Amino acid sequence: MSAPSPAVSSATPPASRLAGGLADRLADPGLFIERAFIGGAWVGAENGATLSVDDPATGAAIGTVPACGTAETEAAIAAAEAAWPAWRARPAAERADLLERWYALMMENAADLARLMTAEQGKPLAEAMGEITYGAGFIRWFAGEARRIDGLLLPAPTADRRILVQKEPVGVCAIITPWNFPNAMITRKVAPALAAGCTVVIKPSELTPYSALALVALAERAGIPHGVINIVTGLAPAIGAALTASPVVRKLSFTGSTAVGALLMRESAATIKRLSLELGGNAPFIVFDDADLDAAIAGVMASKFRNAGQTCVCANRIFVQAGIHDRFVERLAAAVRGLTIGNGFTPGVAIGPLISPAAVQKVGGHIADALALGAENVTGRNDDVDPQRFVSPVVLTGATAAMRVAREETFGPVAPVFRFDDEDEAVAAANDTPFGLAAYYYTGSLSRGFRVGEKLAFGMVGLNTGSVSLEVAPFGGIKQSGLGREGGPTGIDEYLALKTMHVGLTA
Ligand code: ADP
Repeated sequence: MSAPSPAVSSATPPASRLAGGLADRLADPGLFIERAFIGGAWVGAENGATLSVDDPATGAAIGTVPACGTAETEAAIAAAEAAWPAWRARPAAERADLLERWYALMMENAADLARLMTAEQGKPLAEAMGEITYGAGFIRWFAGEARRIDGLLLPAPTADRRILVQKEPVGVCAIITPWNFPNAMITRKVAPALAAGCTVVIKPSELTPYSALALVALAERAGIPHGVINIVTGLAPAIGAALTASPVVRKLSFTGSTAVGALLMRESAATIKRLSLELGGNAPFIVFDDADLDAAIAGVMASKFRNAGQTCVCANRIFVQAGIHDRFVERLAAAVRGLTIGNGFTPGVAIGPLISPAAVQKVGGHIADALALGAENVTGRNDDVDPQRFVSPVVLTGATAAMRVAREETFGPVAPVFRFDDEDEAVAAANDTPFGLAAYYYTGSLSRGFRVGEKLAFGMVGLNTGSVSLEVAPFGGIKQSGLGREGGPTGIDEYLALKTMHVGLTA
């Protein structure tokens, strides 16, 4: 925390205090915001305390955000509660129009949103642009879904009764999001919440708040009424505890680690909140002998190395059948040797920094553990990068179930390859994890495609594709990977409660 500065409240976001900093790299410097947004006012913490936000590529400070805690969170909840009756009463078509305006503003400002993201998160600028388009897609999708919220008229067992079911917004929703997709993890929760008629309090990751604050500023510009979206930055345990303890907050949607998800679930038990939890993964990526090798290499490169391997759906364990193993490894190692590592703003860079030095240490620990247990590094890169902040992409062969790379989510650019002989062995190994988010497999056989897909114990399976996340399809896991589904035709249901109306007809 830095020295207190006075709390500020204003109708419009204040311009950056850091001349020559990130704001100057934006076409619209007003999108670099160092304030929380509560009830339509851009504010500091009540005690003026701030947190520093750093560039993961260099460690240099980018700016600060308010170190909000209990008081600010309670104010945000009160603002969301006050805004709810009018918001839910708006015709769905009006809510949809506002979401579409927000979508359009995101696309108009995509370049600035991407720059903010690369600065605070580190991912290559082209990937950041991709995330803005992907994230905006959820807003457009749920604008459409808002117009389609329907109900049921059920056949009654007797002639003097009618039974109707209508869908109502659940109420004030808490939205807690991680740093790896600082934009899209917010839009895919907030867009369905608003479409359903809910109001929200967002707590973005303390590591990537600027992407979130810019998104909220654009929502304000789009005309989304004050109080409908509130955002508090700062002290995660205090904000989380205030959100989960509040009886006003009827739903919590969280994306992050399984440990924090379990904590929030426990904290939410006292007030019996609705929960959507998108937690850790340990995705298998299986390549059978009959796979299209070119497609499998393209798929694993996309799935494994996007965001430097820092995604919950990234291939964590690569299982390759014996007959294709050596050719696959040779091709994969060549592709990985071709990846450029460096600052995400440098054109051509494919692998940026990891989010923090602690993340680098953890990933380094996974690599060292695998090598000590007999794995071989077949990429042999020697990159001139800061070893505190970057991890060179690496392919490890000879991986086994005893290694940490098999049991834990590595969250880094490490591709461990496990050799297998037959289908049953591969499926059993793939399912041997408490997680169940995404799985990928490549085969030229239609029968095997169905057979294996039905046996894989994961919420999403990719057959001959390395990507399983689009706004049009449900996203989510089973087992310790979480509860609920985001996106797709069912995504809005997470923010709707059914009300059954029994009508007795009198003479
Ligand atoms: P990761 O390991 O990916 O950083 P975390 O689960 O630690 O994931 O963080 C995801 C989100 O959860 C972030 O916004 C973080 O601030 C928040 N968070 C972490 N601890 C808590 C907590 N005790 N209560 C509420 N939110 C928390």
